Amino acid sequence: MRLSAYPLQNLKEVPADADIVSHQLMLRAGLVRRLAAGMYSWLPMGLRVLRKAEAIIREEMNRAGAFEMLMPTIQPAELWQESGRWEQFGPELLRIKDRHDRSYVYGPTHEEVITDIARRELKSYRQLPVNFYQIQLKFRDEIRPRFGVMRAREFIMKDAYSFHADEAGLEVGYQLMYEAYSRIFTRMQLKFRAVLADPGAIGGTGSQEFHVLADSGEDAIAFSDGDDYAANLEKAAALPPAAPRAAPAAAKTLVPTPHVRTIAELASLLKVAPSLCLKTLIVEGATGELVALVLRGDHELNALKAQALEGVASPLRMAAPERIARELGAGIGFLGPVGLGCRIYADHSALTLADFVCGANERDAHLTGVNWVRDLPEAEGADIRNAVAGDPSPSGKGTLAIVRGIEVGHLFKLGRKYSAALGATVLDEAGQSQALLMGCYGIGVTRVVAAAIEQNHDERGIIWPDPLAPFDVALVPINLQKSARVRDASERLYAELTAAGFEVLFDDRDARPGVKFADAELYGIPHRIVVGERGLDAGRLEYRHRRAAESEEFAIADAIGFLKARRTG
Ligand code: ATP
Ligand code: MG
Repeated sequence: MRLSAYPLQNLKEVPADADIVSHQLMLRAGLVRRLAAGMYSWLPMGLRVLRKAEAIIREEMNRAGAFEMLMPTIQPAELWQESGRWEQFGPELLRIKDRHDRSYVYGPTHEEVITDIARRELKSYRQLPVNFYQIQLKFRDEIRPRFGVMRAREFIMKDAYSFHADEAGLEVGYQLMYEAYSRIFTRMQLKFRAVLADPGAIGGTGSQEFHVLADSGEDAIAFSDGDDYAANLEKAAALPPAAPRAAPAAAKTLVPTPHVRTIAELASLLKVAPSLCLKTLIVEGATGELVALVLRGDHELNALKAQALEGVASPLRMAAPERIARELGAGIGFLGPVGLGCRIYADHSALTLADFVCGANERDAHLTGVNWVRDLPEAEGADIRNAVAGDPSPSGKGTLAIVRGIEVGHLFKLGRKYSAALGATVLDEAGQSQALLMGCYGIGVTRVVAAAIEQNHDERGIIWPDPLAPFDVALVPINLQKSARVRDASERLYAELTAAGFEVLFDDRDARPGVKFADAELYGIPHRIVVGERGLDAGRLEYRHRRAAESEEFAIADAIGFLKARRTG
C-alpha cells in the first residue's frame, strides 16, 4: 500500500477516556474509531490485523475438523424462551422488535440457534461427532463497556459448537479444541496460559479459559511453578499452612490505638507485621443474622469462596456499619473475634497464628498477644481468601505465582443443557433416542487484537508479532521527491517485495524522515527498510527490526532473502 494514497490520519491527541495502552494505540494508529459506547468501526489499518487473526483461527479450526458456517446475528425470541434464557440472561441481552411487534434478540452467543439447526439436521449417531463454527458479530449490552474493543458491546467472536453421542466423544472433541486453541495463540506469538475456570467441577476440565498474559488484564491468574496447574484467582484454592500453630508466648494486652483506621496504620503503630494483625469483616448471614469473617491483615477476602459458606448470604453482602454497631456493640476499625456475639469463620491461615493482634471491640483499642483456644474459642476454619504468590499449589506440586491475564478464549462442556431444553436428539446404535451432548468454544477475535497490543508495545507504539502485523515491511525512502535514484530503487523494491509475497507499507509521502519513522513505529510494522542516497552508492540498504535498538545494512540484491530470513511465522 502506498501511504500517499491512504487518506486517514493518525490521532495526535488521545481521548481522555482511553485508559489502557491498547485502546490509546488503536486510536492513535487509526485501527479503530468509536461510533457509540462499546461500538467501534474497524478502519483499513485495523481490519488488516483483524483479518490476520481471523485467518489463523479459521485455519486451525479447519485443521481440527470443524466446519465453518454463518448464522444470523438477530435471533427469534421464541428460541430463547425455549432454552429459558429469555428470562435468565438479564440486561446484557439486547431485545428488539420488528414492525409486526415480534420479539428478537441481537445474539450475544449462538447456542440456541445451533441447537435448533442440530435438532433439524442431526438424526443419527452416525452423523456424530461434528463441530460447527462461525466468525461473527455479537452484541452484549455490557454494563460498563470499556478499554475500547477489549470490553465492547458489539464485538467479533469465533464461536464453535460440537455435538457428540456420549461423554467419551465430548471429551475427545473438547481436547481437539484445547489443542487448536493452543496452536492458535502460539501461532500468534502471544504469551498465554490455559487456566481452569472451574476446578471444582468433576475432573476439573469442565471449563477452561485461555488468557493472554498482560499487566492490564482484568483477571488475576494463579499458576504453579511445579506443574501446569493454573486457575482464575477467584477459583484458586488457598491451602491451610503446613506448619502447626505455635504455642502462646505473650500475654493478652489491651492497647490504646486512637486514630488507627487501617491494618497498615495499626501494624506501624504497634511495630508488628500486617500478617500478625487480624481483620474482621462482618457480612450478612443467609437467614438474616450477622456472620464474621476473620483474615490475616495481609490477605484479601475472596467473595466467591465466602458466599459459598454455610450460613452466609449469596451474593456476599457486607453488613451496614449502623447494624454492626447496634447488634455487635462495636465499630468498624476496632472489630475482633474475642467476645464477638456472632458466628465466626476464620481463614485457615488466620487460625494458625499465635500471639496475634486484633480489634478489641471497643473504641480506639486493640488487643495484642491474643491466642486461639486460650483467649477465645477456636473459630470455624475455612478457605475464604485469595491465594497469594508463594502459597503451595493446590495441585500438590510447586508454589503459586500470580499474574494478570486477558481472557481471549473459553472452552466449555455444556452437556445436555441446550439439547434437552430444545429437544435435540439422535438415535443411538440401539435405535434409542438420546439428547445430544454439546461443547461450546469461543474466542474473542476483536479482543485478541487489543490483547496482542497490551503484550507488545513500547513508548513509541505497537510492536506487532509478524503473524498479526498489518504489513510485514515499512519501506521508507529518504528524499523520494528529490532523488530519482531513490525513487527508482524504492519503486523497484516495492514491486519485487510485493511479488515475493511481502505486504509492504510504502511511505512515498512527501514528509520528513522523522515523521515517516515515527509513523512506522506507531503502526508497529515489524520490519523497516530505509532507502537513501548514501546507501545506494554502496549498493546497500538499511534495515531495522521494530524491537531492535540498532540498524544494520544489507546488499540490495539480497533484499528478499534477507527479509525472509528475518520474518517469523
Ligand atoms: P468476560 O468474562 O470477559 O465477560 P465471558 O465469559 O462473558 O467473558 P464468553 O461468553 O466465554 O465470555 O465469550 C467468549 C469470548 O468472547 C471471551 O473469552 C472473550 O474473549 C470474548 N468476549 C466476551 N465478552 C466480550 C466483550 N464484551 N468484548 C469483547 N470480547 C468479549
Ligand atoms: Mg461477559
